[in-house]
Amino acid sequence: HSLIPENHPRKESLIIREKIVDGLLDGYVAPQGLIAHGRGECFDYLIGEKTQEFAIKAIKAGVASLLLAKNPVISVNGNMAALVPNEIVKLAELTNAKIEVNLFYRTIERERKIAEILKKAGAKEVLGVDEDASATIPELFSERRRVSPRGIYIADVVLLGLEDGDRTEALVKMGKKVIAIDLNPISRTSQKASITIVDNVIRAFPKMVEIAKELRNKSKEELEQIVKNYNNKEILAESLRFISNYLLQLSRDL
Ligand code: ATP
Ligand code: MG
Repeated sequence: HSLIPENHPRKESLIIREKIVDGLLDGYVAPQGLIAHGRGECFDYLIGEKTQEFAIKAIKAGVASLLLAKNPVISVNGNMAALVPNEIVKLAELTNAKIEVNLFYRTIERERKIAEILKKAGAKEVLGVDEDASATIPELFSERRRVSPRGIYIADVVLLGLEDGDRTEALVKMGKKVIAIDLNPISRTSQKASITIVDNVIRAFPKMVEIAKELRNKSKEELEQIVKNYNNKEILAESLRFISNYLLQLSRDL
């Protein structure tokens, strides 16, 4: 990161880019992950690069759902491992969730490296590596459909970030509650998920850890109330209205 000037106005964003590039050079971020990151950055501009109220509401419902779940799983890919490894492990601990490596562009080498990163961050167990990914998601083809029979396959609630729309839809069709972190509110993942957190994983994960610490002391009834009062269509609409008003405001401020 030594090449990033200390006083650069977008220093944070540049450091994050470097993490993704380092992940690529280390062989665990897929080249396509770089393109996905760029797409994410674009949408992040449109929400002012901040965790907005619609994301906070989705985060609360998401964390409550994880705490209420019988078999919660956090699904991890290369970009997530590059950006928020420590927060993934913390959130898994706080919500009793399993951690599973789940790659769109699956190779054993990348799986192993991601598992290694998560273990370094303190994970005791990481599912989905090698032969562990022996169950299959119906309706999907090739390596994209392979999941762990102890993890995503039997999960009732799955938290995922930067996921493909097809796979999100397939998981929902299997009857799972899917919590998606996706900066693009009109991606198929965002539209198909049960709970959509329109925010950057960089900000959403630490926020989820913070909220999990608060919510884990609440009663089952209180958590159920949070989940019951949540409406994903409303949240998606709120995020789109926000973007539209934000752009109007920017145009007036010129
Ligand atoms: P879909 O398949 O859901 O229609 P897509 O094909 O555009 O969408 P994918 O590559 O399948 O996208 O998934 C990546 C998604 O993750 C994109 O919507 C992108 O905006 C989003 N994204 C990228 N970086 C981040 C990030 N740091 N935090 C949250 N979301 C991100
Ligand atoms: Mg896609």
